[in-house]
Amino acid sequence: MSAPAKLPSCPICGKPADPKLKPFCSERCSDIDLGRWLSDRYVIPASEDEDDGDLPPARKPESE
Ligand SMILES: [Zn+2]
Repeated sequence: MSAPAKLPSCPICGKPADPKLKPFCSERCSDIDLGRWLSDRYVIPASEDEDDGDLPPARKPESE
């Protein structure tokens, strides 16, 4: 296939990017990428000096 690749392909869906939104093809894909980026940062296993508590201080369910 020889497509005139003037614009980069959208890294999200692979469609030709929109010049205004490149390298994405749409705001939706841009948002998706941004979301991935943010989630990546949050997902990073931050096993630094954080308290090594296994669970967050969630209140225990009262059992009768
Ligand atoms: Zn896209």
